[in-house]
Amino acid sequence: MRSIHVTTPGEVDVVEVEDPRPRPGEALLRVRYAGICGSDVQTFRGTQPFASYPRVPGHEFSAEILEINGSSEDLAVGDVVTGVPYFQDGTCYSCRRGLINACERNETMGVHRDGAFQELITMPLERLHRARGVDPRDLAIVEPFSIGYHAVLRADVAEGERVLVLGAGAIGLLTMIAARTRGAEVWIADVVASRLEAATTLGAAGTVDLAQETVDSVVQAATGGDGFDVVFEATGLPVSFLNAIEAAAFGARLVLIGNGTREVTLNQSALIKKELDVLGSRNSRGVFETLIDLLERGVVDVSPLRTKIVPLTEAKQALEDAAAGATDDIKVLIEFPAVS
Ligand SMILES: [Zn+2]
Repeated sequence: MRSIHVTTPGEVDVVEVEDPRPRPGEALLRVRYAGICGSDVQTFRGTQPFASYPRVPGHEFSAEILEINGSSEDLAVGDVVTGVPYFQDGTCYSCRRGLINACERNETMGVHRDGAFQELITMPLERLHRARGVDPRDLAIVEPFSIGYHAVLRADVAEGERVLVLGAGAIGLLTMIAARTRGAEVWIADVVASRLEAATTLGAAGTVDLAQETVDSVVQAATGGDGFDVVFEATGLPVSFLNAIEAAAFGARLVLIGNGTREVTLNQSALIKKELDVLGSRNSRGVFETLIDLLERGVVDVSPLRTKIVPLTEAKQALEDAAAGATDDIKVLIEFPAVS
């Protein structure tokens, strides 16, 4: 089978490797679609602090079950599934308290262990979730959707609250969609016009082009100067964290999703004065079934996010383009052959 290897930072090759075999309790999967995430780009660039090489990227995928080694009540050969890609050790203090998304020794596919950018993968059965009547291209978006949904659960977003999302990339847009399922009114900010257009299509109450407008003007226009009840930071940029503090109402919740390497300087009084709840949000926990149900019932539509689909043979170029910042695409999916 063919497998996409980042051999060393900046070098990616499609290589022929031996087919994997499922161990007891695992399924053999034929990958259908796999999304390129910022963390895959970091692995490619060599800026992902946890990656070792060579590494197969990819943790967002849909796949078909080819074989089950063992028995399963829920799953059968031919099912179309996606899978939870964060492997926890089950023994650390986080895991013992049920906070498995924040496992101290978490291993995410595509970063700490090989991922889904290959024609065939194996996965433990308990990590797989079947979907019926969901486009496999949308199913590959469940994992990033779960990141946004988890962040919304962290903030316990409530009906009628005014929410601002900073960053209209895939995670920001999916956070917006998730907050809307809770009945919130969601504004979203970015500096790329095409992403803001997508946000409007996806139901944003308003969009903010931070290349043209200030945070203060948005607070005035959207909340009459009150500030937002919840602000999600989905860029990882220091200036965006400061913008989030500025946009937040007194007593607001501020959720950090964007993962960055740059340091931020602030006067901590800004957090005290507004009595802000600042929440980190990492991975997701136990929400795949909920999200697949939303897709199966057509409650949400994530299809506008997948702005480009490339065949396996063009995956190398797609990773290079993403690493070079040469694209405004929201979500690029790699399509794998239906039959190898
Ligand atoms: Zn753990």
